[in-house]
Amino acid sequence: MDTADVVQKADDAGLRFVRFLWCGNDGTVRAKSSSRHGLEGRLRAGIGLTVAMQAMNSLDQLQPVEGLGPVGEVRLVPDLETFRVLPYAPATGAVLVDHVALDGEPAAVCQRSFLKRQAARLAERGMVLEAAFENEFTLAVPADGDYRPVDESLCFSTIGMAASQDYVEGLADALERQEIVLEQYYAELGHGQQEISTGHAPALRAADEQILVRETIRGVAAQLGYVASLAPKPWPEAAGNGGHIHFSLWSEDGSRNLFHDPSRPDRLSDSARQFIAGVLAHLSGLCGLTAPSFNSYHRIVPQYWAGAFTVWGHDNREAPVRVPSVFAGMEEASTNAELKSADATCNPYLALGGLIAAGLDGLERGLEPPEPVEVDPVTIPGSEREARGIHRLPQTQEEALAALESDDVLTTALGPVLAESCLAVRRSEWEAYSARDAEFERRGHFLKY
Ligand code: GLU
Ligand code: MG
Repeated sequence: MDTADVVQKADDAGLRFVRFLWCGNDGTVRAKSSSRHGLEGRLRAGIGLTVAMQAMNSLDQLQPVEGLGPVGEVRLVPDLETFRVLPYAPATGAVLVDHVALDGEPAAVCQRSFLKRQAARLAERGMVLEAAFENEFTLAVPADGDYRPVDESLCFSTIGMAASQDYVEGLADALERQEIVLEQYYAELGHGQQEISTGHAPALRAADEQILVRETIRGVAAQLGYVASLAPKPWPEAAGNGGHIHFSLWSEDGSRNLFHDPSRPDRLSDSARQFIAGVLAHLSGLCGLTAPSFNSYHRIVPQYWAGAFTVWGHDNREAPVRVPSVFAGMEEASTNAELKSADATCNPYLALGGLIAAGLDGLERGLEPPEPVEVDPVTIPGSEREARGIHRLPQTQEEALAALESDDVLTTALGPVLAESCLAVRRSEWEAYSARDAEFERRGHFLKY
């Protein structure tokens, strides 16, 4: 698709605006819009943005990061293939963008370019990471200056489905119009909690679509008078919202699932085992990218099915790396692993780039995963857990960020600018939220993700 094709599509749809969408180090989605006037030029040369935005946290507090202050610009340059007409916003379209320095090179802080670099490292081995985000979220209605869940229904309850059916119809329609494949929908455990799974795609497209899906979940809600939130722990006592990431490695032509080996009892190939071993070896630091918010650590606690210990297991919903059983007749296509210690407050480019960097370390070093854990790890006595090298994942945002900082594989992959800015932004959120009460945390996350 070239500039003229996008302009033609914009005109056919009668668009007034095209949003240039990006996701920051703080995991929020932001945009600048081009109007129809001058759209061709902006699609080609991008829109200017202060370099400071990548030093901004999710409370709009600018952090002191070298080179990301008040002086300097990047260009938000669109990937034209990502163009969509937005069904939930009048006469508006969207594109996903790279952050490009004024010399035309990818900016060091560009998360989307980081993911492309990691995908290119995999491509050198003839491999592609296919990924799918599985978003849980909360549908609420405004009530007395606050928000109340749209239902009080049970897990997978059809009464819960009925309470949200006008919204879900709008959501499914909006996803279809954006050519995002919807696989499943159901009402989940928490009051007002919903879950959708969308189709898998190569890593970059999966991350782009995760931004579009998050926008659609909230945008359709706003249009219908609801509030939808992907906050990891919307209410302290209720079920958390995961943003699980399903992943597998495929041959470059897409013809073979390299995670699949029918000769093994669990059908996991050597490559799958090594990649999973790498993910497990870096899991604590990876949490700083996949579950990076203050609120994330109120979700990742034992016995909430979010995966709180450094284990993997087959069909084990208390394992942060779960290997789901395959579907009969679709064994190869359905072989994959799921990262449960992830939520939708992550920047999806950082999360998937970090996942690839961790998995690649496993492939490069030929790592073997530890014994899989086929019970709830909290039921294993502490001394046995210790002996088997099973630890708690980070219990706070601060711990996750410390683990990320001390993980050389992840920080080397990120590069100094991205590692430093991402840590500075997220650490400032820890400072802000740990100094305040639970209500400040709840509203802060509920309304921004
Ligand atoms: N809500 C759980 C979480 O926070 C996940 C439940 C499930 O396994 O679907 O990740
Ligand atoms: Mg679920």
